[in-house]
Amino acid sequence: MDCRLTQENIPLFINNRLSREEYYKALIHIAQCRDCREELILAEKIKKGLKKGFSQIEKPVEMVIPIQSNPQYWRKEVDDLVEGLIFQMLAFSKLM
Ligand SMILES: [Zn+2]
Repeated sequence: MDCRLTQENIPLFINNRLSREEYYKALIHIAQCRDCREELILAEKIKKGLKKGFSQIEKPVEMVIPIQSNPQYWRKEVDDLVEGLIFQMLAFSKLM
């Protein structure tokens, strides 16, 4: 699966709307591709943000920005995501 197709599938991916085959193709690509991981993280953030509603938006901007502009914060987020993806891939490979 290439980047364009993967990124088109990200909204479906995070909402579990892909077939099992498409899901794991996307998963394998995302685990190897930094650009698509970043797209996925962004999409997850938007999804979480929508779930939380507007409560966050009312926070003063200066309270939110320092956390999100901190590279350590992002690195941990990426590490957690990649760890989760690898775990899912291992679980999947056992099913095959
Ligand atoms: Zn990609």
